[in-house]
Amino acid sequence: MFKKVLIANRGEIALRIIRACRELGIKTVAIYSESDSTSRYVKKADETYLARPGQLRAYLNIYGIIELARYAGADAIHPGYGFLAENAEFARACRNAGITFIGPHPEAIEAMGLKVEARKTMKKIGVPVVPGSDGITSVEEAIKFANEIKYPVILKASAGGGGRGLRICSNDEEISKQFPIARSEAKKAFGNDSVFIEKYIEEPHHIEIQIVADKYGNIIHLGERDCSIQRRHQKLIEIAPSLILDEALRQKMGAAAIQAAKSVNYDNVGTVEFLVDKNKNFYFLEMNTRIQVEHTITEEVTGIDIVQTMIRIANGEKLDLKQEDIKLNGYAIQCRINAEDPTKNFMPVTGKITSYYSPGGFGVRIDGHVYKGYTIPPYYDSLLAKLIVRGRTWDEAVRRMHRCLSEYVIRGVKTTIPFYKKVMEDEVFKSGRFTTKYIEERLPYLIYDLERDPLIYVSAIAGAITAYHRL
Ligand code: ADP
Ligand code: ADP
Ligand code: MG
Repeated sequence: MFKKVLIANRGEIALRIIRACRELGIKTVAIYSESDSTSRYVKKADETYLARPGQLRAYLNIYGIIELARYAGADAIHPGYGFLAENAEFARACRNAGITFIGPHPEAIEAMGLKVEARKTMKKIGVPVVPGSDGITSVEEAIKFANEIKYPVILKASAGGGGRGLRICSNDEEISKQFPIARSEAKKAFGNDSVFIEKYIEEPHHIEIQIVADKYGNIIHLGERDCSIQRRHQKLIEIAPSLILDEALRQKMGAAAIQAAKSVNYDNVGTVEFLVDKNKNFYFLEMNTRIQVEHTITEEVTGIDIVQTMIRIANGEKLDLKQEDIKLNGYAIQCRINAEDPTKNFMPVTGKITSYYSPGGFGVRIDGHVYKGYTIPPYYDSLLAKLIVRGRTWDEAVRRMHRCLSEYVIRGVKTTIPFYKKVMEDEVFKSGRFTTKYIEERLPYLIYDLERDPLIYVSAIAGAITAYHRL
């Protein structure tokens, strides 16, 4: 087994990886930017190094990080999610430096890195994809194609991720306007201006399959997650298993995900994302060749530690699980506790956490990195913690989540907690009839309630009193 793992990431996922390493008896090396020096994960690692340059680039500096790993004597690097996690150059540089990259081999990352290319591979092997184009290079071509498959369509950056680089278009004028912007933005944000078009599927579910593959061709899936509750095309609440899949569809989608992974000789864990339409047709969206933010809920329903599995596979261990060993027990829900203002279109906020009290009890898990007195830096994503609950039934899980959200106290910055409480009370959510349109459709009702929440008045009055005393 590895002796020392360097974690090329920050925040909650860095802490998650430290915990996995500790249980495996592996020492950890954390890197941090200046503004992350007070994050909880920095305190928990065995060794820490201030990484440079800058607040963001510290985590993107391929050769700087490898140099640090060498200096610290780390024999493996875990990239977490975001940053360098899906960067084939980084995986290759690790390999060349004789350090194990805890993730798939660089060729698999490359093969799935561009959505246009991944779609071609899927078509070839018979995995259904969303009807769409190859790379498109002119407005005329884009308009012609959109009229062929009929509006609405979605313009996508082939190298996009994290919900960025997506644009819905309903007519020729919108394409004329959006296409050039999409290209230049893709170039700027992802260093690649390849753009393509997909049919915009109305009111789908986002369903993704977690797969696990070792280096010897053994591959299984750990069931699905329903991540339909999104804002800005990015997930907020995730559940496992899905309420809309039956066992037959689960096995069919599981088999398609395995086929997708096999087509690129995938090793390590990964996620194949699909959209499922009203008629239960499923379409490949993309494959994420890394650990996912919402891996936790799959861990809760399967009992399998996915991060430890990643490390063991990277170390060359054979998969000790068979498909028939995988049983899904009960339901798990994850709410991403973000520093965002749901009443202002989920605008990210920063500031100091003046009070922090996290929920606990049976079936409750928190993966987070903040605490009372912590100041949220403005440079990164708004995720503060992930609140995960498990229940024997869907109803029990929803009630437990509601109870936990009521216990959760974070003061000093606005968070998504009060909004999630309203969601747990919402009949549409509880009935399982939510699609990717959920927030757009339900937000006005839920916010109406939120703005009338008596607690808001209590805190407003408390704020006024404090301000008065400060005078
Ligand atoms: P998940 O698919 O695990 O739910 P998210 O879409 O929420 O992941 O993204 C997790 C983090 O990784 C976010 O901070 C997001 O901005 C970042 N991220 C994901 N993919 C990319 C990408 N291709 N380029 C840049 N950042 C990305
Ligand atoms: P990213 O790489 O940013 O995660 P994805 O292609 O996975 O981008 O899409 C993110 C989300 O955008 C999906 O979960 C879905 O809600 C929405 N979306 C993407 N493609 C389509 C489509 N063709 N039709 C409808 N919604 C889509
Ligand atoms: Mg995606």
